[in-house]
Amino acid sequence: MIKYKDIIGIGFGPANISLAITIEEKAPEMDVLFLESNQDIVWHPDAQFAGTDIQNHPLRDLVTPRNPKSHYSFTNFLKETGRLFKHLNLPLTYPLRKEYAQYIKWVGGHFYNKVQYNKRVINIDIVCENNIHKGYKVTTDDGRNYFSKAIVIAPGRTPYIPSVLEKASSKRIIHFNKLISTLSSLENEGNTPKNIAVIGGSQSAVEIILDLRNRYKNCTLHGITRSFGYRQKDASPFMGEVYFPEHCNFYFDANKKGKEELDRDLLFTNYSAADKDVVDSLYVQIYEESITENQRVFVVTNREIMQAEEINNRLKLTLINRYSNQIEELDFDLVIAATGFRNIGIDENQERVPPILDRISEHLDLDELGCIVIHRDYNLRTLSTIAENRPIMLNGLCEKSHGMGDAGSLSLVSLRSEIILNHVISKLQQGDPVSLPNRIELYS
Ligand SMILES: Cc1cc2nc3c(=O)[nH]c(=O)nc-3n(C[C@H](O)[C@H](O)[C@H](O)COP(=O)(O)OP(=O)(O)OC[C@H]3O[C@@H](n4cnc5c(N)ncnc54)[C@H](O)[C@@H]3O)c2cc1C
Repeated sequence: MIKYKDIIGIGFGPANISLAITIEEKAPEMDVLFLESNQDIVWHPDAQFAGTDIQNHPLRDLVTPRNPKSHYSFTNFLKETGRLFKHLNLPLTYPLRKEYAQYIKWVGGHFYNKVQYNKRVINIDIVCENNIHKGYKVTTDDGRNYFSKAIVIAPGRTPYIPSVLEKASSKRIIHFNKLISTLSSLENEGNTPKNIAVIGGSQSAVEIILDLRNRYKNCTLHGITRSFGYRQKDASPFMGEVYFPEHCNFYFDANKKGKEELDRDLLFTNYSAADKDVVDSLYVQIYEESITENQRVFVVTNREIMQAEEINNRLKLTLINRYSNQIEELDFDLVIAATGFRNIGIDENQERVPPILDRISEHLDLDELGCIVIHRDYNLRTLSTIAENRPIMLNGLCEKSHGMGDAGSLSLVSLRSEIILNHVISKLQQGDPVSLPNRIELYS
């Protein structure tokens, strides 16, 4: 007889680590397992650039907005590691990303007996007994199967590389989520890049240029963006309310047109823009290079990439100036796409169904465009082949439905995990006489 876990969590990044805390604090009797493809907890390891800071208020951590008294808060991490006073004395507005990555790892480490590492989930199937949907079979890349009544999927978003670059099928084009590991392989092979392009106008694009300039003293760098220049993030506190829980309800209830307008209005609070400190720093560094006739960082603006092709171990980019229509060719030995991640949708930079849901998508009630539909509680809209008491939850891939305040930041992960757990418990209680706690209270 199959023994089903109550929940299998897929991925053990911040979203599902936050869920693990909520389960421990609210429903410790639940039988849960998390499957993580990495060999350890590492928060965006390829984007841990020296000196960079986090983008969220540190108290909007994995638990504080839900339970400020928790053991797992960032403040308690500092206390437990003996750093509280030193940290509070730092002349920084936001903590270093490296320290926050340590915090996330510290929290996740408490759940070692609930996580299996080196387990990449490659498939999710439904399991039926006597034609009744009983649960899910989750298969990992080592061929093992795991069974559960509910699944919470939190694999992070799919990296996006524009198709004009992807078509070149070149190893010289990488997404920035592979940057540090690619650089160390190239260094080990004795192929340290000498001429690099960084595509995009995001926070990451600017951080990468600053990092590479420092890392490789003999390297020429071109930042290529279709904008007029690197834009500063919209840091107005009024706009910052996008990271309030109320905004998720507001956004969720908006119609399609309203959502599109809100996305346009809020875009620069998080995307296609960078913080003032890094923009200023880059500008000053380029200026200093130029007045000492030693310029090696160039920002190429208003340009669209028309073509990319690998010729003689070089990557040639053909660019067009969006306003003068002038065409130019530049070649590089490495092109880094700092072009973000895919949202749900039909545009070029979107995906209808995240790859991890491919096999199970025949049981999902997709919309008229073939995209997944996510309900307010983060459960997927499913067909009748999925029993109501066997929910599939998405933890984090919800920008299209819940807005960028929910999906694009750590700010709301703790509250989201509570909604997810609440939903799962209420559904599991409908079906089986399992000894689960009463419906837990939602934040108001
Ligand atoms: C470079 C970068 C910096 C960011 N900085 C901030 C910030 O400072 N502040 C902020 O609020 N937000 C930030 N964000 C946005 C967001 O908060 C983070 O992306 C956050 O890490 C999302 O957490 P997650 O758990 O949903 O996804 P992830 O952090 O991507 O974690 C997903 C986990 O799932 C695992 N996984 C994936 N596929 C599988 C599979 N098939 N099987 C098993 N495991 C799998 C991965 O290995 C990973 O451990 C940043 C995003 C990026 C890309």
